[in-house]
Amino acid sequence: MHMYTKKSNHNDNNHIWDVIVIGAGNAGLCAAITASEAGCSTLVIEAAPKDMRGGNTRHTRNLRAMHDEPTDVLTDAYSFEEYYDDLMRVTKGVTNHDLAKLTLEKSVELTSWLSERGVRFQPALSGTLNLGRTNAFFLGGGRALLNALCRHAKSIGISFLYDTAVTDLVIEDAFCEGVILGDGRMLRCKKLITTAGGFEANLDWLAEGWGDSAKNFLVRGTPYNKGTILKALLEKGAQPVGDLDQCHAVAIDARAPKYDGGIASRIDGVPFSAVLNKDAKRFYDEGEDFWPKRYAIWGRLVAGQPDQIAYAILDSEGVKRFMPSVFTPIKDDTIAGLAEQLSLPVEDTVKTIDEFNKACPAGPIDQQILDGKATEGLSPNKTNWAAPILKPPFFGFPLRPGITFTYMGVEVNEKAQIIMSDGKPAANLYAAGEIMAGNVLGQGYLAGIGMTIGGVFGLIAGRQAARTLTNQ
Ligand SMILES: Cc1cc2nc3c(=O)[nH]c(=O)nc-3n(C[C@H](O)[C@H](O)[C@H](O)COP(=O)(O)OP(=O)(O)OC[C@H]3O[C@@H](n4cnc5c(N)ncnc54)[C@H](O)[C@@H]3O)c2cc1C
Repeated sequence: MHMYTKKSNHNDNNHIWDVIVIGAGNAGLCAAITASEAGCSTLVIEAAPKDMRGGNTRHTRNLRAMHDEPTDVLTDAYSFEEYYDDLMRVTKGVTNHDLAKLTLEKSVELTSWLSERGVRFQPALSGTLNLGRTNAFFLGGGRALLNALCRHAKSIGISFLYDTAVTDLVIEDAFCEGVILGDGRMLRCKKLITTAGGFEANLDWLAEGWGDSAKNFLVRGTPYNKGTILKALLEKGAQPVGDLDQCHAVAIDARAPKYDGGIASRIDGVPFSAVLNKDAKRFYDEGEDFWPKRYAIWGRLVAGQPDQIAYAILDSEGVKRFMPSVFTPIKDDTIAGLAEQLSLPVEDTVKTIDEFNKACPAGPIDQQILDGKATEGLSPNKTNWAAPILKPPFFGFPLRPGITFTYMGVEVNEKAQIIMSDGKPAANLYAAGEIMAGNVLGQGYLAGIGMTIGGVFGLIAGRQAARTLTNQ
């Protein structure tokens, strides 16, 4: 166990911390730094060893921030109204509107708050995705952001306990006395801020919403987000928010590791392929819309297939049309040979690809637009970019559902206080980040808003926790 503290008092069971924060991801560090800067003695408890600290935040690249004029890291303007429309479009209105508005309004302060604490940003991105206007990219990614925040946190006297999972919370009548560690010790606090992420790494809990198929999910992020704290909060009367089976899941290479594969295992070739299930049947329109608008449904689609596996099949033209993933595709000179390598039924695969090829229209496809080049007579049809898979060699990517994060969490108010089942806020319990993101994101996803929710509510939780302690 590593300890970094000016006053080594973790082992003093009678010591009462002003603030304990559970989880050293983006939300936890934002909360801890804010509380400490306001004068609170602050302890951060992190389940992972130091090298693996920071949960899913390690894998991130950017956050989405509103701004009325160009900043040093964002171009042009991204107004409240536009951001709000974008959020309503993806959530279809399943959100707490007051908290959603608060998140967008407060997103203004995030990049400068982080910069002032050592986080560096890339110059605004150029390019066709237009992300340089809406999303600020961390120089060196999420890991560099974490390192900078941890360095700052240490410099202002925040204590860390790594390799230490909180296993339970001591809560009586909506008041938290402290936390229980794996070795049975209790650490006491005046305020508890829970920022322990979602429960996406707990396949048993996922199975309650998804059934047995959950065992075949790959977890794109940390193995430490098991939902222990969320479960403890719910058992002790916190009001849940969001549905058990709502999650962000994309199709990733089936060869990716069970945990922590990160962003490099995502397969972006679906729009230029025919995607077959293990029975060599196509099951969804691969060309329904531009990939950035569709990639997040493919985790769920693959999860719905037998054994939760699928195969994207391309020819030597199709394979050039997207950014390669970290895994080289499986390659063969014939479709039959490729099917054999992928353990697909050979005759059925050849038949499906033949039928697909015959149903494709003549002429080249144009991937820059929704070109309407659709197959005819198939079920389902491919409605854009339908080009025959004819030119060897042929390529195949095995696909599995890759879960990014879950949405079910605890309800909070605008002070980041956890709401209990009687509708009242708990006296000294706060939540920020993925553990409460379902308040804002009831469904759908907007790239970069995960880090924004964590940053905004982390700052609010830290300020609120400190306010009553330090009379600010
Ligand atoms: C591959 C990938 C890419 C992503 N890219 C982006 C992106 O570019 N932009 C974006 O906005 N979002 C992105 N996200 C989502 C983003 O990671 C989350 O929204 C954000 O990191 C959540 O921050 P957090 O602090 O709430 O949780 P986390 O960063 O996951 O931190 C939670 C911490 O709690 C700790 N913990 C858990 N249980 C316990 C316990 N019982 N005791 C002690 N500690 C515990 C964990 O070890 C972890 O360190 C991505 C996610 C993934 C998986």
